Amino acid sequence: MMTDAEHTPAIPTRAWTENQANCVLIVDDEPIARASMEALLAPDGYRLLKAESGLRALEILEDEVVDLVLLDVMMPELDGYEVCRRIRATTRLSELPVVMVTALDDRDSRLQGLLTGADDFVSKPFDGAELRARVKTIVRLNRYRRLLEQTERLAYLEDFDPLTDLPNRRLLESRLAQALFRARRVQEGVALLLLDLDDFDRMIEALGQQASDEMLKEVAARLLSCVRGQDTVARLSSDRFAVLFESIKPMQDVALAAQRVRAALEKPVVLNAHEVVVTGSIGISLYPADGERAHMLVQNAFTAMAQAKRTGKNRYQFFSQEMNVAALERIDLEADLRRALENQEMELYYQPKVSGTTRHLLGLEALIRWQHPQRGLIGPGEFIALAEENGLIEPLGEWVMQRACRQIKAWRNAGLPVVPVAVNISSRQFRYRFLEIPKVVAEILARTGVEPHLLELELTESLLMPDEKSGVSGTLAALNELKALGVRLSIDDFGTGYSSLNYLHRFPVDALKVDRSFIIDILSSSDDATITTSIIQLAHNLGLKVVAEGVETEAQLEFLNQRDCDQIQGYYFSQPIPASGIEVILRGKSEKIMPPIP
Ligand code: C2E
Ligand code: MG
Ligand code: MG
Repeated sequence: MMTDAEHTPAIPTRAWTENQANCVLIVDDEPIARASMEALLAPDGYRLLKAESGLRALEILEDEVVDLVLLDVMMPELDGYEVCRRIRATTRLSELPVVMVTALDDRDSRLQGLLTGADDFVSKPFDGAELRARVKTIVRLNRYRRLLEQTERLAYLEDFDPLTDLPNRRLLESRLAQALFRARRVQEGVALLLLDLDDFDRMIEALGQQASDEMLKEVAARLLSCVRGQDTVARLSSDRFAVLFESIKPMQDVALAAQRVRAALEKPVVLNAHEVVVTGSIGISLYPADGERAHMLVQNAFTAMAQAKRTGKNRYQFFSQEMNVAALERIDLEADLRRALENQEMELYYQPKVSGTTRHLLGLEALIRWQHPQRGLIGPGEFIALAEENGLIEPLGEWVMQRACRQIKAWRNAGLPVVPVAVNISSRQFRYRFLEIPKVVAEILARTGVEPHLLELELTESLLMPDEKSGVSGTLAALNELKALGVRLSIDDFGTGYSSLNYLHRFPVDALKVDRSFIIDILSSSDDATITTSIIQLAHNLGLKVVAEGVETEAQLEFLNQRDCDQIQGYYFSQPIPASGIEVILRGKSEKIMPPIP
């Protein structure tokens, strides 16, 4: 036989909403009693659930939001008292209104009901009007209690961040406005410190959302631990926090506070059994020096924070007006950069790599140039870092690779001898999507029909450093995949990074490029001479070719020739020039550089 409760479709657990029908659960073992209560209450528009036993009632309460229970006292197995006791013992249900339905109209059984936690009684047989009235009153009181709770919760959410329990942006802004109002009267200083965690997106990727949330809570706790009671710590957005320092005296105090914040973050956090170190970039603005109004202080602290990020992260930076000008220029430049590719404003120049002894062309390096419609020719130094920050480096990098391959193909088609062309891969571009780079390269090679050995990728030394978060293996796997495609790999600016000598033999690279900074003083600085000489020896011992960058004079060339440096790149032979200039060399018409040996 089907029970009454089974007729009720199962509704998944959900939160209470204001416009939801009130729900009454009727619990009685006698079908007739259930039916008569149902008939009496139906006209009042309740959602009615029914249970034929105490156990069934408790089951229903587990996943339904119920506003009132009408509970028969006399039932087999669990009687009404016991059911009521269990309801009160459940945290979620401890406040649920329970009305006992009893035929025992004596004082003792009523008292016992009250002692187990019932809110009211109705007697069997029912007085219909009384039952409806009692249910209505209790449901209304319960509804009122819920509304209050909900209003409180909404008010809380308006001003606080539920993850960390810190004030949110709104509350911070209003406290900042109050602080400024006060500071103006008593002539005191206010400081606003903005903290943005470094590489938080990578942390989420590596640790997962839950561990990252733990990390954020930990950061919140540490921030609170290093401020005074009157200061406000707030969470503004996912990985961005703020500290408002009121009645702050000299600037040194703020610097000290910023140092404390940095130091507080530095201790590793253990998450998923990993020790994770989180760092942050901090920007600081001061009232009255950097702004009179709240929004100016926020804006300027942000500008300073962005500057701290750009200049190496894990540091703090006070705002300055010059920064503002620079920030505005950057905004313009960034907007222009977004359009530059579409508008075909980018160009590739090529710089020859030449044999120092025979002067034959051995290779080329593609270097990007931006023909800006108003500003004229802009070098990569002015926009590559920006492109790395805003993600444009990816389309830009792909464009360079594709453009270089097309050029190789064009020379080939014109019947000219060709040499490998190197393109620069930004370590940022590589790190973020290192697993995808081999795919992109393979696709471009296939699309342009260029033989893989004619494409060379210049990677920076820092890329080879083991990354605390992703581990070195990811990079290594991608490099091996690239190598398997047949492209050449070289390490750019070698010697400027960390001592990656330890890792060098593990990477499938073909060449090292000695950084220009060693070549400049190669004749006057014995250190630079020694370093360059050892790099050449080391590379040769590992079976790698060596390219010297930035060779400008005959004397430098001589020095490098004596030490068997394989390739020379630098103004001595040629600046980076447009493809048409390279064609002159390929045709054997250059005075300085011989065409490639076929
Ligand atoms: P890099 O890869 O180390 O490139 C060599 C830089 O040194 C080039 O500067 C080149 O013009 C310059 N140079 C070469 N020989 C001499 C010399 O004899 N004397 C002097 N003073 N300089 C010399 P450029 O073209 O301004 O490029 C600067 C950097 O920008 C490059 O350094 C590279 O890291 C980056 N870059 C250039 N093009 C691209 C690109 O397409 N993608 C990426 N990701 N980075 C690029
Ligand atoms: Mg390079
Ligand atoms: Mg270089």
